[in-house]
Amino acid sequence: MEASAAQKHIVIIGNGISGITTARHVRKLSNHRITVISGETEHFFSRTALMYIFMGHMEYSHIKPYEDGFWKKNRIELKKAWVKTIDTDQKILHFEGGEKMQYDKLVLATGSKSNKFGWKGQDLEGVQGLYNYQDLEMMEKYAPTIRQAVIVGGGLIGVEMAEMLMTRKITVTFLVREDRFWGNILPKEEGELVSRHLLEHHIDLRLNTELKEIIADKNGRAKRVITGNGEEIECEFVGLTAGVSPNIDFLKESGIELNRGILVNEYLETSISEVYALGDCAERRVPVKNRRPIEQVWYTGRMMGEVLAQTLCGKKTAYQPSEWFNSAKFFDIEYQTYGVVEAELKENQDTFYWEAANGKICLRINYDKTTETVLGMNVFGIRQRHEVWDKWIKTQKSIDYVIEHLPHANFDPEFFKQYERQILIKYNHERGKKLRIKTRKGLFALLSR
Ligand SMILES: Cc1cc2nc3c(=O)[nH]c(=O)nc-3n(C[C@H](O)[C@H](O)[C@H](O)COP(=O)(O)OP(=O)(O)OC[C@H]3O[C@@H](n4cnc5c(N)ncnc54)[C@H](O)[C@@H]3O)c2cc1C
Repeated sequence: MEASAAQKHIVIIGNGISGITTARHVRKLSNHRITVISGETEHFFSRTALMYIFMGHMEYSHIKPYEDGFWKKNRIELKKAWVKTIDTDQKILHFEGGEKMQYDKLVLATGSKSNKFGWKGQDLEGVQGLYNYQDLEMMEKYAPTIRQAVIVGGGLIGVEMAEMLMTRKITVTFLVREDRFWGNILPKEEGELVSRHLLEHHIDLRLNTELKEIIADKNGRAKRVITGNGEEIECEFVGLTAGVSPNIDFLKESGIELNRGILVNEYLETSISEVYALGDCAERRVPVKNRRPIEQVWYTGRMMGEVLAQTLCGKKTAYQPSEWFNSAKFFDIEYQTYGVVEAELKENQDTFYWEAANGKICLRINYDKTTETVLGMNVFGIRQRHEVWDKWIKTQKSIDYVIEHLPHANFDPEFFKQYERQILIKYNHERGKKLRIKTRKGLFALLSR
């Protein structure tokens, strides 16, 4: 613990994973005074679990990772309020209610907001995104009066919203601008796999279809959408899930340099001294190799928080993430991705793709055309070990090596069907090779390394 340094007031705007991880780690490392502010909820909750409240699997108290007494015990002061403006010269925050707060060091962890692209009718009653707790409350409010919903924008949050609505027997039409689901992220085959899966779940999926306008009834509530093709779809609810963007509108006059997000260097420092930003709202001036400048996922917020706490407590530390990974669920199919797999191959890249006969399970491995080293992978329906793929990509293993050792990465329970042999046969057949599986799955694999 940093005992000698003078006590500072560290103020954190945002009580999501980024802000809270920063606060917890600053407390572990120092005696600084810490205040965490949020206008959304009094306590930190797991945003990724919001859907389970709506679906009745959990209550709000279950998605709060810490008991309410935790904060006082750890001397982390909480304030539920919206910050309206920041005076970085005087180091003062101005709240919506007129109050002020002085800080020594300021951390911006303000997250994202749902995108709205200026559609006519986007602010009507019954039209909303799914990001914050208030969105969940609004969905609860409208749900009993919804028979038919339209969701606009095919991504992970859209699928969650569809799944939520369908548990209340609401019919869902999904408008997706691209020719496949999540077409800006997933390669063609995976996008088509997810599209088929959504159709199987009775979602009325309309590909190559954009929203043009939302029409109101006489009370100002959505009653119909008109698509770019001129088709009219009756509905009582419109979900806007066409991505999220950094929640930084209130910073426009602050003098802090902004682009799409709050611009930061590798130490998460903004353009203003003693002001830092992290998580969904931060944008790296110089992105880390193979990573995007803005990363809107849970684990990056947590990792940045751990790193920033070091800097705030006097040990300046750069945020240097390792290989990219992400995971999600499309109804009942699990998806994992490691390293670099983009929707379209780059010039120096090649790919190997295998899909099971049932069209629900697949594996893609992208590799460098010249060196044949593995660059990244996508998998649907087979659970994979993070540490194995991370190591294979980091240590630049060849695709042949990876194919021969695939069982080693398999994390499914022992009794699950295994596909590595099928994958190997397809690979050998396509490439005219005679590779053989060299590893066994599970404990044997670990013992025989
Ligand atoms: C439905 C849903 C499902 C998701 N599922 C996954 C998943 O499966 N895996 C994954 O990796 N990621 C997932 N994400 C993304 C993940 O939740 C975010 O990347 C993460 O929560 C961002 O954390 P954060 O702390 O940076 O910001 P946030 O969690 O957004 O926290 C920011 C907080 O700051 C508050 N705030 C902002 N401005 C002000 C202000 N002016 N005054 C006061 N308070 C302010 C906000 O109200 C908010 O409470 C999901 C997101 C959603 C919405």
